[in-house]
Amino acid sequence: MSNYFLTTPIYYVTAKPHLGHAYTTIIGDAIARWHRLLGENVHFLTGTDEHGQKVAQAAETAGLSPQAFTDSIAPLYQQAWHQLNISNDDFIRTTEQRHKVGVADLLQRCYDAGDIELDLYKGKYCIHCEEYYTDDELDPGDLCRIHKLPVEHVEEENYFFRLSRFQDRLLDWYAAHPGSIVPEFRGNEALGLIRGGLRDFSVSRTSITWGIPLPWDDKHVAYVWFDALANYLTAVGYGSDDERFNEWWPAHHLIGKDIIRHHCVYWPAMLLSAGIEPPAGWAVGGWLLSGGEKMSKTTGNVVNPLDLVADVGVDGFRYYVLADTQYGNDGDFTYEGLIGRYNSDLANNLGNLLARVATVVGKKCDGIGPTPRPDSPLATAAESSYATTAAAWGDSAPSRALDATWSLIRATNAFLEANEPWKAEPGPEVDAVMGDALEALRIVTVLASPAIPDTCQTVWERLGLPGRVEDQRVPAAATWGGYPGGLTVTKGEALFPRKTV
Ligand SMILES: [Zn+2]
Repeated sequence: MSNYFLTTPIYYVTAKPHLGHAYTTIIGDAIARWHRLLGENVHFLTGTDEHGQKVAQAAETAGLSPQAFTDSIAPLYQQAWHQLNISNDDFIRTTEQRHKVGVADLLQRCYDAGDIELDLYKGKYCIHCEEYYTDDELDPGDLCRIHKLPVEHVEEENYFFRLSRFQDRLLDWYAAHPGSIVPEFRGNEALGLIRGGLRDFSVSRTSITWGIPLPWDDKHVAYVWFDALANYLTAVGYGSDDERFNEWWPAHHLIGKDIIRHHCVYWPAMLLSAGIEPPAGWAVGGWLLSGGEKMSKTTGNVVNPLDLVADVGVDGFRYYVLADTQYGNDGDFTYEGLIGRYNSDLANNLGNLLARVATVVGKKCDGIGPTPRPDSPLATAAESSYATTAAAWGDSAPSRALDATWSLIRATNAFLEANEPWKAEPGPEVDAVMGDALEALRIVTVLASPAIPDTCQTVWERLGLPGRVEDQRVPAAATWGGYPGGLTVTKGEALFPRKTV
């Protein structure tokens, strides 16, 4: 069985979980679930980023120690992911001991390699990004482009990672690993950053105490990138359990487009310096915007995902997040869009299909599902739906995957409308049509389960199928002819009652 290690970014604990965090985490969850369906041994990691100046400041404002403050915020993420049915295998907090020892180890290796050196830094610094910017990276008036707030002039003695030495090594590595960043245009963006010239970046601060001390100079604490990025290593045993680390590394990273520089340029250079293999791949998402702006506490346009779950259910929300935006591009969250997707794809398509099938099987087949025909006209639709769905999940493209799965739902609804079994007398012809429809629905249930797992389990049970849909394995479970017939089909309540805005 092959191992598949998938990560989300770790989320900074100065903000509570919002739609932007939920977006990437739900994408990751669905991809992890798809790889489990493929029979891979999956390790899906998320967590919280808990060190740094902003956390220390937020803790002070809250009247708490930094540790007590982070202890109060990290569980909000764990609870939110639990409520959204996120199947993470681990949740790392950067204040954990396993992380601290690994960060010290990584820093020491890069220092020993001669790639970390002491230097004086003067620059324009956004305290919210924790990032220095050059003039051409700022808006007029020295405003940070992300935060729209003025940067500060900072001068201090820092240790620097000599990123400038890595241009050729990075270009060579990417040339040897084509397609490792998807979508392709985001990969080109990363290559553009590398070709454009690389500046050394600061890896330590003396002005901050809330962080991990450098192992060779404890007046300095590790600054942002060596601390945060290293979570991907330390969570699977780097620095504490080599055997486990070697089993899982390298990881597949899901990241947002705003952290391409750090994840696709800094990070592989740091790993090359330390003699560690760079990541297996990166899938780069756009932002889920709200009112045309990135959601952030600073801009005040934060949508709490758990409020939306109250309206459309966990799966209604998950489906929207996965289906509505092509991963890689920006999406714009609107409440009307959420309800529109819910009604068209879930209530009218999937919900209606199940209701029709269960009703007709109840009335015309005594509630017992008939066997599908091997030569059903739906068999080809199912085959091509599976092929396209699988390819799209493989490309980390959930919206395309779901569209391909929904093509089988649409084909099955059209097949029923063409045959009108509800008008026919019970008999072999109705049985044949309904057996085919049940089989198509069974395949849909398997294919949609990474996106809407609870709903698919419900459908699975209403079709009379035993066990857990998540225990199915593709391609076998997506192959035409798996519905055995003779099972009791249950109608039940509407899966997705229609909503009005
Ligand atoms: Zn900023």
